[in-house]
Amino acid sequence: MSSPGAGRLILIVEDNDKNVKLSKDILRFYGFRTIEASRGEDGVAMARENLPNVILMDIVLPGMDGIEATRQLKAEVSTREIPVVALTASVMQSDQARITEAGFAGLIAKPIDVQTFVEQVLAYCRPSVTS
Ligand code: MN
Repeated sequence: MSSPGAGRLILIVEDNDKNVKLSKDILRFYGFRTIEASRGEDGVAMARENLPNVILMDIVLPGMDGIEATRQLKAEVSTREIPVVALTASVMQSDQARITEAGFAGLIAKPIDVQTFVEQVLAYCRPSVTS
């Protein structure tokens, strides 16, 4: 396989080191560039600064959670077009409603399925922004 991720930047907002390492390793293997944040606030700041092609957003984070972070990103002109994908283990009915309402583009289940992860991420990537 060539490098399907070439030229694409992925922001991973996740506070579990093992999950960060696994997703980062897979994405980098396929040629993506990645940046990481472990807190919602930092994720929002990094999204503004780097305008990634897609954001993988954990829901339960220290401080601001992934739902609030996504809400903020969707409220800002510079970041609202960036697809944000919820990265989550189990989604309770109440969370599902909040996720939909916050403006997430979709959901990738944890633990990550190594076989399909890259395909799932690619499906959500938007073209690079050149300004
Ligand atoms: Mn978490």
